[in-house]
Amino acid sequence: MDSLIEYNRETEAVNFIKKHLKDKNVFVGFSGGKDSIVTAELMKRSKVNHQLYYSFTGLDHPSVVKFIKKQYPDCIFLKPKKTFWKELSTKCPPSPIIRWCCYCLKKEASWKIPLNSRVMGIRKEESNKRAAYGMINYFKKLNHTHYYPIYHWKEYHIWDFINKNNLPYPSIYDEGFGRTGCIICPFHSEKTGKLQLKYRKKYSRFFKKWEKEISKLSYKRISQGKIMHYKTPEKYLEAWYKNNLARWYKNNKKIKSEKGLF
Ligand code: SF4
Repeated sequence: MDSLIEYNRETEAVNFIKKHLKDKNVFVGFSGGKDSIVTAELMKRSKVNHQLYYSFTGLDHPSVVKFIKKQYPDCIFLKPKKTFWKELSTKCPPSPIIRWCCYCLKKEASWKIPLNSRVMGIRKEESNKRAAYGMINYFKKLNHTHYYPIYHWKEYHIWDFINKNNLPYPSIYDEGFGRTGCIICPFHSEKTGKLQLKYRKKYSRFFKKWEKEISKLSYKRISQGKIMHYKTPEKYLEAWYKNNLARWYKNNKKIKSEKGLF
């Protein structure tokens, strides 16, 4: 019975792709994460013409980049116009309310690809925002239509599919991270904040650079007369390492942690 349900879920996803994307040339957003791995496999099974694209942010987990290059050698890497560090020097650190980095580092570069039909490994249970999407989303401004074949899959369905089909996946999942993505990201919970401290040792070059740039930026803003939420950059970093609620300027609106994103 269970295997029949599994079969139906997989067949439904492949049929969804065939029904909506047959005869199209499809952009597939690929992050190297578990949901992307399943989506790429379903695309392959559908035999619909497609290309995987990875948005390289420069803050990528080295082991994930290595994994993609080895397991998905045809995946195209898209690079942003400016580096994260260049963007950071003119802004404030990204946070759940000012998430400029996804736009600059990921979205902009992908918009240059002239493919309007786009498949993403987005799932309903990931966040309240995603729960409101539906399986097909049209973005008028870009004339893009997004299709989400695994929209109703639960996390355990994803892992079942990966294990059953012996699909390789990045080692960071076995190290305790729930999702791939940038090493330095505002979306980390208290749990992953603790893991970030662990990763600080392993990938120290990212964190040393982050701490140095935060310190530089903080003193630059103070010299411009800005009132910071924390008295010193060290205090800001201390809060940032703990979870995603660290404030930059004083009087920032009270924000809620975007639970479930990381
Ligand atoms: S994954 Fe995090 S740090 Fe990377 S672009 Fe998105 S919000 Fe920014």
